[in-house]
Amino acid sequence: MKRVAVIGAGFGGLAAAAILAHRGYAVEVFEQQSGPGGKAGDLRIGGWRFDTGPSLFTMPAVFEKLFALAGGDLNAALTHEPMELITRYFWDDGTTLDAWQDPDRFAAEVETKLGDPAPAVKRYLKRAKKIYDTTADIFLYGNPWDPLNIVRTTGWRALAGLPFIAPFTTMDRFHRRYFKDERTIQLFDRYATYTGSDPYRAPATLAIIPHVEYAIGARNLRGGVTALVRAMHALAEKNGAIFHFNAPVEKILRKSDRAVGIVTGGADLLFDAVVSNADVTHTYLSLLQSESEAADRYQRFEPSVSGVVFYWAMRGTFPELTVNNIFFSADYRREFEEIFDRRRCGSAPTVYVNITSKFDPADAPTGGENWFVLVNAPYDDHQDWDIEVTRLRDTITAKVSRLIGRDIEPFIAHEQVRTPKILRELTNTNHGSIYGISSNDPMAAFRRQPVKCADHPGVFFCGGSAHPGGGMPLATLSGMMAADAVTRRMK
Ligand SMILES: Cc1cc2nc3c(=O)[nH]c(=O)nc-3n(C[C@H](O)[C@H](O)[C@H](O)COP(=O)(O)OP(=O)(O)OC[C@H]3O[C@@H](n4cnc5c(N)ncnc54)[C@H](O)[C@@H]3O)c2cc1C
Repeated sequence: MKRVAVIGAGFGGLAAAAILAHRGYAVEVFEQQSGPGGKAGDLRIGGWRFDTGPSLFTMPAVFEKLFALAGGDLNAALTHEPMELITRYFWDDGTTLDAWQDPDRFAAEVETKLGDPAPAVKRYLKRAKKIYDTTADIFLYGNPWDPLNIVRTTGWRALAGLPFIAPFTTMDRFHRRYFKDERTIQLFDRYATYTGSDPYRAPATLAIIPHVEYAIGARNLRGGVTALVRAMHALAEKNGAIFHFNAPVEKILRKSDRAVGIVTGGADLLFDAVVSNADVTHTYLSLLQSESEAADRYQRFEPSVSGVVFYWAMRGTFPELTVNNIFFSADYRREFEEIFDRRRCGSAPTVYVNITSKFDPADAPTGGENWFVLVNAPYDDHQDWDIEVTRLRDTITAKVSRLIGRDIEPFIAHEQVRTPKILRELTNTNHGSIYGISSNDPMAAFRRQPVKCADHPGVFFCGGSAHPGGGMPLATLSGMMAADAVTRRMK
């Protein structure tokens, strides 16, 4: 039986392990942390439960397909429900807006609250769908490096549609074609951050993200994102994958360029293939100690943004808030300049507050709420994070208190904080970035590491820093693609 080592039990690693074990390979997963999930961890503070990383669950069909391919059933394993209200937005001028999943209701809300006509919102979402329909099979589900494959899988019509995907204009400029009000533009610009990018530089092609959120759908996961991680872990184990936790991999063993196994705990273990769910840069430099051109290249690409997260165990409930809440900065352009050019957090940043106990009361004690509070942050470049955290805490509590009309500070019963440096130490991600390389230029999709390593036969990549990109569904897709690439090689 062919043996496959998987390094890392994030979404990509779990997906690859579940499928490969189902296909009959002897799969062993080596994870340096004490449990699965990677960036998507589970944190308990007293009676409060938090997802440490991702909160917004989209593209459920990706997970349904994964489970089906690996002999499971997602919908039997966990419960997820459509979100009627996706996000509540707050601006400094006192405006609030509810972004409903229903496009008519959402468009009407934009017209009433922000003044941009409802048909403009509908027109924009239609264009976003067109961009998605043109690009998804190439950039998300396919192989963007091979033009023949593009034509084979999507036909000439897809290529003909490429001029409509607006790769050479920025998201912000694209949104100005549809909307007049700065707040509407800011609302749609924000989707660039879902790939860790800057809307004033990232290509308008990223307008696929609002389509994914509004049309394909955002979902509430009962039990939190960690329930999905547990279900994927259980699926892989049921199929026979063996998990080793607290097992950092020190090296990928090479015979010349070819991978022949791994080193963990000082022991050499031989495998026929190695799937790395660890960050691409960490894999090339630390694990492969590769001298290849690719190893050099990935160090030079700009990493995506990171985040500073406060986990606040709140004693008290806040009916003014919903599950997802955004408190926008007054100067969005400046916020991104500060992050990308000055490598510091915004002086008056946009604040995201996610409260899962709103739909899953088990996540907080009665009369309490679990606040996951995130601000975008630059990747870790040896900033003094203690100073940043102290400053951010004051700024965030003042901003949220002002906009909801009551002082939140006395309600914070317990707190933990995670900085880009901590994320880097926990997961070996490049400079603590969340989404691999940034998508700040039109060629970014072509620069991502393909799942098959060209320089080191037997090595396969999956996860948010590899193709097709970051975020739970894309990292999972990359695990599925890596499983297929391993299967093809072993034939
Ligand atoms: C604060 C935050 C908010 C986010 N919000 C969202 C969201 O709302 N929606 C969304 O879809 N996505 C979101 N994301 C992104 C999402 O979490 C990631 O894209 C996804 O979880 C990445 O999965 P992955 O497969 O790349 O694995 P990772 O989570 O990166 O896991 C890789 C694993 O490899 C392990 N590893 C690394 N090196 C070694 C080694 N040498 N030996 C052994 N093990 C090793 C690590 O410990 C880790 O467990 C967010 C992330 C963060 C941090």
